[in-house]
This record gives sequence, structure tokens and C-alpha cells, in this order.
Amino acid sequence: MRWAAGRERPISAIYWHADRIRCPNARESGKGSQRRWGQSCVGKSVRPTLAVIGAGPKGIGIAAKRRILEAHFCVPDLLVIEQTAVAAAWTGGHGFTDGLQLLGTAPEKDIGFPYASECWKKNGDDHSTKINVGMLSYSWQQFLIATKARGFADWVDRGRVPPNHLEWSDYLKWAWNQTGATLTEAEVCKIDLNKGRWELSLKGKKRAALPPVLVDGLVITGTGPAKRIEGQPPSHPSILDGRSFWQPQRMERILLAKKPRVALVGKGETAAAIAHTLLSKRIPDMLINLIGGPVYSRGEGYYENRVFTDPEGHAWSDWDQTERRAFVGHTDQGVFSQHASELLRLSKVDDSQFRWLPGRVVNVETDDQDDMRVLLTIKATGPDPVINNFNFLIVSTGFQSLRFREFMTPLAAAALDEAIQCQWTPDGQRKYREELEAHIDRDLSVRGLRPRLHLPMLAGFAQGPGFPNLSCLGRLSDRILHPYTDATDV
Ligand SMILES: Cc1cc2nc3c(=O)[nH]c(=O)nc-3n(C[C@H](O)[C@H](O)[C@H](O)COP(=O)(O)OP(=O)(O)OC[C@H]3O[C@@H](n4cnc5c(N)ncnc54)[C@H](O)[C@@H]3O)c2cc1C
Repeated sequence: MRWAAGRERPISAIYWHADRIRCPNARESGKGSQRRWGQSCVGKSVRPTLAVIGAGPKGIGIAAKRRILEAHFCVPDLLVIEQTAVAAAWTGGHGFTDGLQLLGTAPEKDIGFPYASECWKKNGDDHSTKINVGMLSYSWQQFLIATKARGFADWVDRGRVPPNHLEWSDYLKWAWNQTGATLTEAEVCKIDLNKGRWELSLKGKKRAALPPVLVDGLVITGTGPAKRIEGQPPSHPSILDGRSFWQPQRMERILLAKKPRVALVGKGETAAAIAHTLLSKRIPDMLINLIGGPVYSRGEGYYENRVFTDPEGHAWSDWDQTERRAFVGHTDQGVFSQHASELLRLSKVDDSQFRWLPGRVVNVETDDQDDMRVLLTIKATGPDPVINNFNFLIVSTGFQSLRFREFMTPLAAAALDEAIQCQWTPDGQRKYREELEAHIDRDLSVRGLRPRLHLPMLAGFAQGPGFPNLSCLGRLSDRILHPYTDATDV
């Protein structure tokens, strides 16, 4: 993690108080607009500022919804801060994918999906349908029509084939450009609290410190860095993960090796894509051991999908906790998609090329004399762990969604701990994560913490399994933006 060296004066010095600020168009907006907007402490009308870290699908979805809302509602100022580029994680130029992998979710689950907002009311008028129709101008279909002659017809005639990640990134960039929003090109390297607002320290393109910014709400997006396993060195040429595997020079080492023995740790969709990519290269006598098996296929039927799309309509928050975690295990985490399972089936590889081993990797050792020797200690049900020798290790056990906490100053972190009533300890991360997940409120922010900190990647357990992923981006933007507008309940 990199921290800003010098502290400069924050850009904005006007403090926003959610219940004291008045909508700039208050006269047009009527009485209801007084509920969340009022006078600033210096007597000047100001809008609250909402910052989003990351210009991926979530940040773009929020920018698009804000744009559509502003015809009918007072909306917050929006600051989308991105350290790399719009839709960077999907292009194949920054790891996570080679860009050629197919999008797992149907592209119609775009940044407006499910086009079923019901919350956009003001003074007895329900604008929700207008908002839903307005969001269609950011849809996947609109993109195909607007950017390519016969693009939409061709996609339909081909049987609505899923786009690859690079094509999906083109859609996301197009949608971003439609919003007319300005991108703040910077890395957020510190999150602090300053008189009731978040203060973000930024580093610009050449790693130069930029003036910090003060904002009234903060949304954190993205996956975080790859998870690591016990003993894994910070970097090693033969140890890869769900992000670095896709960098051509890293993958190439495996492709050029003789009879490589590869340990792939993980059982989810990233592990499935890595296995299929390696097997499709037909490397002679390569063996991939998937550690952590058995492999399960994901539940993707109508009833499962409905819960992702409309968690509220299925009373998700009332489900028993064990039931909610079991549902996510069945449909999302640690399972291969039907598509990935089918690709592996059709690749006709046998056990001499790809097999799964039971157990859990409890330690990793490397050999200073031989960088193609990685020793894994694997614990299964037997009394003694077994040590296995591999040429490559690929750790694909997910991503660190709590990483943002390392960017928080002690003051900001203490406020978060206080809100969830849990102390952070290096050994207690699982408990901390569970407490945080249980404290995610309807607006996807941490309950009891002001200013608001929205953590959609941790909202699956409390609010619905689709919020951390691409399954209901239209609902996600509703939930996050609603408290910053002058919308009323009726
Ligand atoms: C290649 C890939 C394929 C996937 N396929 C699917 C799928 O088919 N279906 C599905 O539901 N989910 C899929 N996922 C999971 C995905 O993470 C979630 O779906 C999530 O919704 C992605 O959107 P996002 O906006 O949160 O994050 P991202 O698209 O990851 O965007 C986050 C952005 O934040 C930026 N950023 C991070 N830290 C900072 C910082 N400190 N300062 C400034 N900027 C920062 C990053 O550069 C990045 O561009 C996939 C993920 C990846 C990476």
C-alpha cells in the first residue's frame, strides 16, 4: 500500500449535513425536497458529494442512474475515481482475464438490470417507470444498435451469444461515455475522517500526491487483490493467482515448460476458466491437480436466478443465516458454472491431465535452487498432511474484499469497528468479515456508520446475493443513490 507523503488542504471545505441541506432546485422540487437537503453551514446551497472508487460496472451503473435521475430529482455530485482506466478489469490488459473469456452472466444483465425500480417517488408522483425506461439508453441492446451496423440483429440471429470480456469492456466504456461524467484519474491511497466527511488522499498518474478530497458518502467497488495461502511468498515466478495468471508473460512460463505439474487451488469460476485455458493449449504431458475438490456445478435455474434479481421479493433478509450461506455456496462461490463444466467435458481430457485432489493446502515452500519446484503441504482427512511437489502453483481462492480497511487511517478504521462492534485482529478476519456482512444496511452501507460507507461486495449476505456481482446493477444504483436525493417514500 502506498500512502500520500504530504497532507495538503482538502479541495472542499464546506461541510454537508444530510438533514440541513437544501436542493439547489428546491422551489421546483416542492416540500418533499426539504427532507434531505437544506442550507450548508455557510448559508450556501450545496449538493452532497458521493465518491465511487472504481470505474467498473458498479461505478458506471451509478453514474448512469444519476444521469437519468437528474431530470426529476436533486442528485448528488459524483466523483468516480479510477487508478487504471474505465472497465480496466475486463479488457485483458490488466490481469483477471485475457479478454477472450466469455462473460458468465447474460449481457442483458447490464448496468440497468432488472429495470424494475420502484423507489423513485416524490410528493405523490411515482417516476419509477420513467427512470426504468430512461435507463434503457444505457442497455446492452442500445450499445449494439448504436455502435455497429446490424450489431443487434446479428447478435440475435446468432442466438444471443455471450460477449467476451473485451467486448463487454467496450460496452462498459460506451456506457460510461454516455453518462457525460468526468473521471478522476487517481489512486485512492488513504481514507480518513474529517469533521463528519470522508477525506480521500489521492495519487495521480505519475504517483504524485494530489490534493485530498472531502466527500459525504463513499462507495468501494472491485474485487481487491487475490487471496493468498499460508507460506506463499510475496512474489515467485512459478506462483500465480487469479489475476496474474492472465498476464501473457506469466502464463507463458507454464506453456513453455516440459511436462508441467500444475497445482490449481480453488474450485470457483476463475479456477474453471484457468483450467480450461491451460487444457485448451494442449501442452504435452501437462497434469493439473485441482486441490480442494470435489467439483460441483452451479445452480443456474429460474428459481435461483430470481433470487439474484429480486432478493426483496423473495424475502432474502428473512432467510435463516445457514440457508443464505448454503444458497450462495450452491449458486455462486466455489462452484463451476454450467458453461465452464460443459467446456471441460467437451475438451475430453482424462484423469492423466486433469484431476481433483481432496484436502486443503496448509503450507507452501519454494526451493531457492530450483524456481520450478513448489512444495505444497496438503491436509486431508488422514492423520498426517502430505507433501506434494509441483512445478507451478496457481492460487485461485478468491479475492480479499476487506483490503480497503488497510487504506483507512486509525480514526476511520476505529469508526468502522465501532459501528459493527467488532475489533479487527489479524487472526480474526473471518469473524470480522461476518460481522461486517451482517451490518450491511438496505442502502448497502455499514449500519450505524456516518458518513455512509457503501460496500456492495460485502452486501450479499444481508441484502441479496446479486449485489456483489453483475446480477442486479440497476437495483444496486437505486439503493446507493436513494439517500442522497430528495426522493420521498410516497
Ligand atoms: C474478468 C472478470 C470476469 C467476471 N465475470 C463475472 C460474470 O460473468 N458475472 C458476474 O456476476 N461477476 C463476474 N465477475 C465478478 C466481478 O468482480 C463483479 O461482478 C463486480 O461486479 C465487478 O464490478 P466492479 O465495478 O465492482 O469492479 P471492477 O470492474 O473490478 O472495477 C473496479 C475498479 O476499481 C479500480 N480501483 C481499485 N482500487 C482502486 C483505488 N485504490 N483507487 C482507484 N481505483 C481503484 C480498479 O482499477 C478497477 O478498475 C467477474 C470479474 C472479473 C474481474
